[in-house]
Amino acid sequence: MSAASSSNPPSSSSSSSPSSLSSSSADGPPNVVQREGATLDTPRRHAHKFGGSSLASAAHYRSAAGLLDDGASSRWVVVSAMQGVTDALLRLVADARAGRDWQADWGALQQRHIEAAALLDSGDALSSQLHDEFAALHGELAALAAPVDGAHDPGHALPGLGEVLSSRLMHAALGGDAAGWDRLDARDVLVTQPGELGCAIDWPATEALLAQWLERHRGTQVVVTGFVARDGQGRATVLGRNGSDWSAAIFARLFAAELLTIWTDVDGVLSADPRLVPDAVRLPSLSYAEACELAYFGAKVLHPQTLVPLQQRGVAVRIRNSARPDCPGTVIGPDGGAAARHDDGHPHPVKGLSLVENLAILDLSGSGMAGVPGTAERLFGALREAGVSVTMISQGSSEHSICCVVRADQAEPGRAAIARAFAEAIEAGQAQGVTVTPDICVLAAVGDGMVGTPGVAARLLGGLAQARVNVRAIAQGAGERNLSVAIAAGDATRALRSAHSAFWLSPQTISVGVIGPGQVGRALLAQLASSTFDGHDEGIDLRLRALADSRRMCLAAVRLDPADAIARLADAAAPGASVDDATTALDLDAFAAHVRAEHLPHALIVDCSGNDAIAAHYPRWLAAGIHVVTPSKHAGSGAWSRYQAIRTASAAVAGRGHAQFRYEATVGAGLPVIQTLRCLLDTGDVLLGIEGVLSGTLAWLFNRYDGSVPFSALVREAMALGYTEPDPRDDLSGTDVARKLVILAREAGCALSMDDVAIESLVPEALRGVSRSEFLERLHELDAPMQERLLQARASDRQLRHLARLELAAGEVHATVGVSSLDGGHAAVHTRLTDNLVQFRTRRYADNPLVVQGPGAGPDVTAAGVFGDILGIAQTLGAQA
Ligand code: ADP
Ligand code: ASP
Ligand code: MG
Repeated sequence: MSAASSSNPPSSSSSSSPSSLSSSSADGPPNVVQREGATLDTPRRHAHKFGGSSLASAAHYRSAAGLLDDGASSRWVVVSAMQGVTDALLRLVADARAGRDWQADWGALQQRHIEAAALLDSGDALSSQLHDEFAALHGELAALAAPVDGAHDPGHALPGLGEVLSSRLMHAALGGDAAGWDRLDARDVLVTQPGELGCAIDWPATEALLAQWLERHRGTQVVVTGFVARDGQGRATVLGRNGSDWSAAIFARLFAAELLTIWTDVDGVLSADPRLVPDAVRLPSLSYAEACELAYFGAKVLHPQTLVPLQQRGVAVRIRNSARPDCPGTVIGPDGGAAARHDDGHPHPVKGLSLVENLAILDLSGSGMAGVPGTAERLFGALREAGVSVTMISQGSSEHSICCVVRADQAEPGRAAIARAFAEAIEAGQAQGVTVTPDICVLAAVGDGMVGTPGVAARLLGGLAQARVNVRAIAQGAGERNLSVAIAAGDATRALRSAHSAFWLSPQTISVGVIGPGQVGRALLAQLASSTFDGHDEGIDLRLRALADSRRMCLAAVRLDPADAIARLADAAAPGASVDDATTALDLDAFAAHVRAEHLPHALIVDCSGNDAIAAHYPRWLAAGIHVVTPSKHAGSGAWSRYQAIRTASAAVAGRGHAQFRYEATVGAGLPVIQTLRCLLDTGDVLLGIEGVLSGTLAWLFNRYDGSVPFSALVREAMALGYTEPDPRDDLSGTDVARKLVILAREAGCALSMDDVAIESLVPEALRGVSRSEFLERLHELDAPMQERLLQARASDRQLRHLARLELAAGEVHATVGVSSLDGGHAAVHTRLTDNLVQFRTRRYADNPLVVQGPGAGPDVTAAGVFGDILGIAQTLGAQA
């Protein structure tokens, strides 16, 4: 395991310091430290790294210092610059070079550091050191205006100042020298050299310098600058963006740490970049190889080089959230390769997904290339000579074309190099030439568990297909640890989210939006809250993600808890929260777009608003692939043209199955009325007629009406019991019953509209136009005519019931709604209380009709009907997925 090359880790010969290099320099096998019995929880030699995201202010340094109180006997802590400082320094350098004004920004940056220093150190020493550093920076920026002399760029290393300043702040936060802390400027010891893959570490030189440093310092508690180093000539340099992770690994190795903890602003390495994928989950453990692949493919949480110095020694890395130290984070180590697991413990082969952006495809094609040996070698040789590095390669076995993916800024030099190398073949027509496809991203799925697992590619490509992402090229490393697809940059986020859904979410994950938290809406939310449809066991995952009332909406990136969604909507409506707030004022298009989240497999809107204007949106929603469920009768019984538009829109959505429109609760609330009719028709039965008691209010009135009390008294009683609409005429007019009949007729294929129904209103002509209060005063005017009808019915031994009737005969449709007198054999005579009843007379059920009967009103049963529709849709989606 001895490494002679200077770009490799230190060899035993370079050991020189008893205090910290003794174990790192031993030529021991990997995992030495772990075999000595150290555990992740109580390392004796513990290296830490704080990223800029954890170091935004003096308070952050203080809490970081608290996190370092870890019980280890020896601790080194590598720091990044304060958040945003590297970017600020880069801007200063660019401005100074370009001759733009930089003084004000320089002053602001100095001010930010001085203010933090004042809070961390009561004396002046720290501030005066910072002033000195900034004065030096000022001089160097001023010098940048002069033209660069020779190859060395004096501005190149300046952004490293952020880490130097940060190390001073951290040193102060830890109590400084007095508390036993040393400060190490990595530029004094860390030596880089050019390597095959860019910058490399000159380990022997670094070890020698560190040994010298350790002779002069205690070395048990050290604050180290990240990111910065020196080159072979002793000039300051930097390790590349995000390089402090790498610094931390280098120093963890030099310090023979048993554990490196990287503190950042997320809970660990997540299954995808959380800024792009809201559903990303923490990965408890990763193997070195998996972490390397993820980092290489753009997971910013870790610099790609980080694990190189640690892997051979088996030093574990733990990534933790500095703002949530209770979270166990992600452990990267030799044993981290266990398959990732779903929440329910099921393994799944892919650990993480990441994206590399700003790429281009170079494609060399030509029929004359097939079977010609050395084509690939010539192509990659040309790219190598041109210094173009290749991210991904794909070649079909026909060898008709070879394509590779390169950095966008290297596309043109790469194209030119290939064109030169194949000039003769192109001339001779054997190769067609080289094409460049710009604006490409590579999406990579990474996981040790992919090795030997069938179906991973199918799942990935299936997810992409669902999001309509076109795949330009595919590659899988022979190690099977990585599957990469090249896609258009414009598709990147959508692709990443859908691929993530394909691996991490149940195929029956439905993004749900509810409109109208009235009585039924509330009951539905309560039912959702007590249900268990949350995707466990890959089952149905109903995610309430949006709630709206007539003025506002509340949208959640991941999910709204149905139990407190109404409160959240109300919060938005609290005084002070403005109605004009774009995030809360109702915008139905934005609402629908949010529900139809590209990263979630399915979308569904429940309309409990009872508002006709909302129904006008259904065709558009359905056409966009959003399922619609409603207990409201507007769409089903409203304008025929709109009804047809809804039907057409739900018939087929290209390439994505079809969005469903369901409305079971419109007739009979929770009773299975529509589904019974559908089942009859779908199995080939023919409907002859329907007879039904379709209003709970009218059912109750006629079940009670026996002449012992006037009809108007019963109406008043029903009102008091809450059985009627606020204006009882809405029930007595029969319109609501007629709407239900129209819905049933349309279900049976009849082009029926409200105008076609003969409705007998129980409200006398004279009372139809008067105010509600006048109507209630004159309610007794209903009594005499009703009494008369009752007596007539009694005379022939019959009873009064309110009935809706649909007769289908010889192509004719007759629809009527009104009071009928029925003999004792009629089922409607035997209903109780507010029961609804629907009788289907069909060819199969000709002599003895099929009857659905039961309570047909009330928020809970209506909501249950709606919930049943939602689950019905979810079940059909499972079959589709
Ligand atoms: P630090 O300043 O601590 O070095 P960075 O900003 O460099 O932090 O890296 C952490 C960020 O990386 C996270 O905030 C997150 O936005 C991003 N990131 C990208 N991909 C991932 C991933 N797969 N897991 C976790 N974080 C990721
Ligand atoms: N401060 C440097 C950067 O922002 C290095 C780091 O934080 O890792 O790139
Ligand atoms: Mg970082």
